[in-house]
Amino acid sequence: MSLRIVVCVKYVPDATGDRKFADDLTVDRDDVDGLLSELDEYAVEQALQIAEEADDAEVTVLTVGPEDAKDALRKALSMGADKAVHVEDDDLHGTDVMGTSLVLAKAIEKTGYDVVIAGMASTDGTMGVLPAILAERLGVPQVTLLSEVSIEDGVVKGRRDGDSASEQLEASLPAVVSVTDQSGEARYPSFKGIMAAKKKPVESLELDDLDIDADEVGLAGAWTAVDSAAERPARTAGTIVKDEGEGGKQLAEFLAGQKFI
Ligand SMILES: Cc1cc2nc3c(=O)[nH]c(=O)nc-3n(C[C@H](O)[C@H](O)[C@H](O)COP(=O)(O)OP(=O)(O)OC[C@H]3O[C@@H](n4cnc5c(N)ncnc54)[C@H](O)[C@@H]3O)c2cc1C
Repeated sequence: MSLRIVVCVKYVPDATGDRKFADDLTVDRDDVDGLLSELDEYAVEQALQIAEEADDAEVTVLTVGPEDAKDALRKALSMGADKAVHVEDDDLHGTDVMGTSLVLAKAIEKTGYDVVIAGMASTDGTMGVLPAILAERLGVPQVTLLSEVSIEDGVVKGRRDGDSASEQLEASLPAVVSVTDQSGEARYPSFKGIMAAKKKPVESLELDDLDIDADEVGLAGAWTAVDSAAERPARTAGTIVKDEGEGGKQLAEFLAGQKFI
C-alpha cells in the first residue's frame, strides 16, 4: 500500500519586506509579499527523499492560509510533491496556534496519512510548537526536531541533535515528524518541475468541509490575544567618527560611554 506523506507548509510574509500590524493587531497579510517558509522547504525535501526511497508513496502538501498561500503550495509542487490541499476561509482571520492546529488536524484526517512532516518552526510565528500540538490532536506519536529521518517497515527513525547529546528516536506509524534546517539542503525546483506543478491537483477546503464551527477559530476562538503593539522606532543615523589620528581613542571612549567596555 502506498505510503501517504502529508507535509505542512506555511505561507509567510517575506522577512525582507516591510511588515506591519493591521488595525485589529493581527499581522497584515494583505499588503505584503509572501513565500513558502524557508524552514518548510526542508520538510518538503525530507518528504521527497522518503518517497523516493519507498516503493510506492504519495506526497501531499497542506497549508492553512489566505488565497496567496497557493504560491507556497505551487513551490512545493514544483519541488516534486504530488498534490496539494489548501484550507482557506474568511473565518480563519485571527486564528492562533490552537485553531491552526485544529484545522490542520481535521484536514490531515480527511486527506488520510501515514506520516505528517512539518518544519522546525515557521519564519514568522517561530513558536516551534505546532507539530507537538498536532500530534496530540491526532493522537499519534511525535518525533520532533530531527536532523536525520528515514522510514522503514512502518517505523520512522531519526536523530535529534542537542547541545550535549544526540538522541536516536523511533516511533511506529502513523506519526508526526518535524525536521530541522540541518536535515539536508532543499532542492531547487527544475524548469520541468515548475511546468509539471501547474497541472498538479490543488484541493480547496473551507471550514464547513472540515466540520469546524467559525467560533472554534478566528479571533473569537483564539486562546491568546494581543493587547497592544507598537512599531519599532526607526533607526537613528548613528555616530560617525572621522579618524584624524584620534579615531581609536574616540572609539574606546564611545564604547566606554555605552558601558560596552
Ligand atoms: C490567515 C492567517 C491568519 C492568522 N492570524 C493569526 C493571528 O491573528 N494571531 C495568531 O496568534 N496567529 C495567527 N495565525 C496563526 C499563526 O500564523 C500560526 O500559523 C500559528 O499560530 C502557528 O504558529 P507558528 O507559525 O509559530 O508555528 P510553528 O510551531 O513555529 O510552526 C511549525 C511548523 O508547523 C507548520 N505550520 C505552522 N503554521 C502552518 C499553517 N498555517 N499551515 C500549514 N502548516 C503550518 C509548518 O510546518 C511549520 O514549520 C494566522 C494564520 C493564518 C494562516
